[in-house]
Amino acid sequence: MKQIENIIQLDTNSTKSVDITNKSFFDIPMDYIANAEKHLHSAETKSVAYFSMEFGLAPSIYNTYISKNDVSKLNKKRSFEVFSNMRQMDYYHLVNIDTLVDMPIYSGGLGVLAGDTLKSCSDLKLPLLGVGILWNKGYFDQKFCFHFGQIPGEFTWDPNTYPGLVKLNKCVDVAIGDTVIKFYIWKYYVSSFDKKHVIPLILLDANHPDNPEWGRKLTDQLYTSHTVWWKIVQRKILGIGGMRAIKALGYNIDLYHLNEGHAAFAFVEMAKGLSDSKMKALTEHFAYTCHTPVEAGHDRLPINELAKVLSEEELKIARKQGQDINPELINLTLIAMNSSAHVNAVARKHEEVTKIQFPSHEEKISGITNGIHVPTWISESFETLFDKYKDVFVDWKNISINLQNINSLYDNTEFRKELWNAHKLNKKHLMSLLSPWMVQDNVFTIAWARRAAPYKRPSLILQNIKHLISIAKKNGPIQILFAGKAHPNDFVGSGNIKEILNIIDSLGEHRNLLKILFLENYDTYIAKQLISGVDVWLNNPLPPFEASGTSGMKAVLNGVLQLSTMDGWVVEAADKEIGEIFGYRPDDGEIGNEEDLKMREDSSSLYKKLEEMVKDYYHVEHADVDKGKYHSKWIDRMINCIEVAGFFNTSRMVNQYNDNVWKMTPIQ
Ligand SMILES: *Cc1c(COP(=O)(O)O)cnc(C)c1O
Repeated sequence: MKQIENIIQLDTNSTKSVDITNKSFFDIPMDYIANAEKHLHSAETKSVAYFSMEFGLAPSIYNTYISKNDVSKLNKKRSFEVFSNMRQMDYYHLVNIDTLVDMPIYSGGLGVLAGDTLKSCSDLKLPLLGVGILWNKGYFDQKFCFHFGQIPGEFTWDPNTYPGLVKLNKCVDVAIGDTVIKFYIWKYYVSSFDKKHVIPLILLDANHPDNPEWGRKLTDQLYTSHTVWWKIVQRKILGIGGMRAIKALGYNIDLYHLNEGHAAFAFVEMAKGLSDSKMKALTEHFAYTCHTPVEAGHDRLPINELAKVLSEEELKIARKQGQDINPELINLTLIAMNSSAHVNAVARKHEEVTKIQFPSHEEKISGITNGIHVPTWISESFETLFDKYKDVFVDWKNISINLQNINSLYDNTEFRKELWNAHKLNKKHLMSLLSPWMVQDNVFTIAWARRAAPYKRPSLILQNIKHLISIAKKNGPIQILFAGKAHPNDFVGSGNIKEILNIIDSLGEHRNLLKILFLENYDTYIAKQLISGVDVWLNNPLPPFEASGTSGMKAVLNGVLQLSTMDGWVVEAADKEIGEIFGYRPDDGEIGNEEDLKMREDSSSLYKKLEEMVKDYYHVEHADVDKGKYHSKWIDRMINCIEVAGFFNTSRMVNQYNDNVWKMTPIQ
């Protein structure tokens, strides 16, 4: 037992767990864990700590640890409601899901990207450490209420029995104003797809009995923001607490990567007591990825409020690094940019936009386009298909660029047939999950699912219901699936959800032509069903405010066509015929106004392209083999989708970060 305690730094109470022995941690051999930990503790190995406010690791769909101990039922089975234009079904039926819940420490795309990044680092055997926060109450539980829209509630789960999550034998202290708060440190190992390497993720938790009652709640809810004090406190915990946890556990890190400006105080912690020239040298050990051009994504915090949480020295360094144009504010984006020798944007278009927004940092900003983790987001039927053609897609899980070899199968009728059938199988799965609502697998199905943020324009497709119905009348029925949460303090986003529910409710009599379902509590489990089980993935942010977007990348991997505005990653794939592009495009060098949503113009161009896609879909759905069913435009486009998935993945993305910024050597 001594050995495990030393390797994992496990709390002795946890070592009673039958899942952890001298030989293995759950199903991971202890040797691999010892090797990963050894390199992260060694001064000889160049290693990276990756800070993020949220991590979406998706154990509900990938690399789930199985515990031999009792797992609290809070961590398992769950059910959710659907809001549809078939109201009686909503009353009588729930959707039941029988998997482990995701560790609820993420809210959306930023967290899923962080999770996918750790997984690809693990696949590529890089010596990297994740640093985040254990959110005791998750993000929030979403309930729908007719006429009110989304009602946020408290999410409950049990970290103590969550498979793979363990408490460590060290704590760290962080002062919040005049009170010292004690934090537990937890650990979770993110294993590679072949289970031969791990990335440790350490998580801070304020729920310690030594803390005052208010202090125990500081890491309850992700992105608590009803006062600016909360925002500052949560950022201090991540940056300063995270840095202290690394030290307390004896890790020897060379480069600190800030995933978003949330973690900017990590630099402040390291810069304490340094001269100007030493502080300048310290920036060589920091890298920062900026994820959004949207105003709300950049924290500008009042100095008088910061003074209530930070020490005098911390505030002084924060001012030096992040003074906003407004003398009363400190800008965390500026701290991160000024403190990092490497600044990254998350797509080519976003690189351009970020340079316009931060001209004084233009030289150090460069773009590395986001990706998704292929082994997590591949559906079972597509995995089987790619494995069957493994001479074409050689080692595609690890070397995902090989998906581009699909071109050599372009004229292979047998393959095209299998591809269509694999898609139909995914669609059947989704339709059976939602069977009480009588959705059908031979009906054109489109989904919009992501955080309900205003610039993403959740309700765009519902702006002219008459037009939508006329398209369905003329070409065939349409099914629309929605899912997504709005941040509880985002009144516009919450208003969008209410608007959608009200429109859905008004469409009862049209249900045979137009069936619309809004699924509660969007998470990675539902995401995986949707991205693989619909025919078309709708992505309609207002350009250029979607820095990258990743859900469409998950969809193309599974042969699902795109209906998208020209924004984010799609700009880089737009000439590849992966679906239809529509809507407003800002002039070169223009950013425009994120509040001018152009709903009327863009919805009418959306309908035009939607009608073409509905036509194309029914063409392939109804065509028989003699009419060249498998040589239709639709299947051409499905092939193109998979070809681009060869680029838009985290295996390529992590390699680019490593070549350009991190410069780690893979562990043998
Ligand atoms: C992938 C994913 C997202 C990101 O969606 P975008 O369209 O990129 O905003 C958000 N939430 C969940 C649960 C996801 O899996």
